[in-house]
Amino acid sequence: MGKRYKTFEVYLVYIEADKCDGCEECVKMCPVNVFDMSHKAYPTRPQNCLGCGTCVALCKSNAIIITEI
Ligand code: SF4
Ligand code: SF4
Repeated sequence: MGKRYKTFEVYLVYIEADKCDGCEECVKMCPVNVFDMSHKAYPTRPQNCLGCGTCVALCKSNAIIITEI
């Protein structure tokens, strides 16, 4: 019988802080609570990211970059 492998997708979550206007949309809408807010958003829990692209689509400042690794 062949060996079975479980695969995991891992994503880097990066915010260009100079672009972020602090609208909090990513904080509110990420389904797995990746972001926290001080005066700008910060990806405090990037390990949660599912790569769904929601935050990238709704960030009007184009400040979020999600990269699959
Ligand atoms: S959606 Fe974009 S501009 Fe708004 S808080 Fe998040 S990173 Fe900043
Ligand atoms: S891609 Fe989806 S899961 Fe990942 S940080 Fe953005 S909204 Fe959250």
